[in-house]
Amino acid sequence: MLVTVCGFAQQYDLLIKNGHVIDPKNNINAVKDIAIANGKIAKVGNDISATETKKLIDATGLYVVPGLIDMHTHVFVGSRANAFADGINSVSADDFTFRSGVTTVVDAGTSGWQNFTLFKEQVIERSQTRILAFLNIYEQGLSTGQAVDNTSNINIDSAVSMVRRYKDIIVGLRIGHYDGSDWTPFNSALEAANKTNTPLFVECHLPKYSLQDQLSKMRPGDIITHSYEQISERMPVVDSTGKLESFVFDAQKRGVLFDVGHGGAGFWFSQAVPAFQQGLAPNTFGTDMHRFSVNAGMKSMLNVMSKYMAIGMSLEDVVLRATWNAAKAIHHEGLGNLSEGAVADIAVLSLQNGKFGFVDAGGYRLDGNKKLEAELTIRAGKIVWDLNGLSAKPFR
Ligand SMILES: [Zn+2]
Repeated sequence: MLVTVCGFAQQYDLLIKNGHVIDPKNNINAVKDIAIANGKIAKVGNDISATETKKLIDATGLYVVPGLIDMHTHVFVGSRANAFADGINSVSADDFTFRSGVTTVVDAGTSGWQNFTLFKEQVIERSQTRILAFLNIYEQGLSTGQAVDNTSNINIDSAVSMVRRYKDIIVGLRIGHYDGSDWTPFNSALEAANKTNTPLFVECHLPKYSLQDQLSKMRPGDIITHSYEQISERMPVVDSTGKLESFVFDAQKRGVLFDVGHGGAGFWFSQAVPAFQQGLAPNTFGTDMHRFSVNAGMKSMLNVMSKYMAIGMSLEDVVLRATWNAAKAIHHEGLGNLSEGAVADIAVLSLQNGKFGFVDAGGYRLDGNKKLEAELTIRAGKIVWDLNGLSAKPFR
């Protein structure tokens, strides 16, 4: 029998009370209550009555933000029997996302048009994490485990039709891991992105293209990742004297988006810190989550965000990049915000004070005194991570 309290029907499934809400899209940065019903944000307000909800979460002292969006991940293994031995480094999304407040990931071209449907059936439809994808311009994406050094496995029309068929999941095209020197793969990916009106995601490992040439071909809204990589002459945004290259700053000013793309080797303080100090902040915090980065300096989305706080970015700016900026970049403006009616993807975070070390790909450590941790993660209204049992009944 359904019991109602004080004559009120319990119209909300979940109420998060007294948390400090940071919702950059809606310019909210204040203590608020958030009520959830039927998997959606039902109400954001002050003093929503606890009698109106079936379940109550006391978020006093915690931050409540939209579910985080990781712009750069690898979560498809492919069909090869020896995938790991063959260099496929993808991970299972749910194993790493919720514990870091992430509710949406974008796979960065691990699949191409030939195996996207396998990815969809094998992974996307079977994960609780919302998985979107950049489609690799190569027919089998990264699932061959090899850098591509020829242009024979590109079919623009097939890629375009796959993007159009699954436009709710595929958010754009991806080019990367190409060892050749002619521009056919890059231009093909750009052409497919143009035809589908989607962004191009440029992952480096394009050693024979210069960064300046790549950026000059990119359109406003296109995304470059591994923005702060420094391996020999590859991709530096800051020159040998520590000065930010003017063509990099100009590219961001005209609308090219810079994603962190931390990964195992893609993030160097020697690039990121002077770039930040000279005005080039990343637009988004893609982690390049894969088997090796999660156990190296990257660790998790929240670790990358905390690292940027140690570099000097404010909490509000960090949350903006991990939520609303990312949603806009992938043209999914329904995500990354806590508007009433939006899907209830929510991260409840604690901000720890202490002594923390943040590590880059070069083996350097930057010390910081703040670190974000995911206390509670909610995906479409359902609690999928609860670090300290905020939603559990007390044992005694
Ligand atoms: Zn990647």
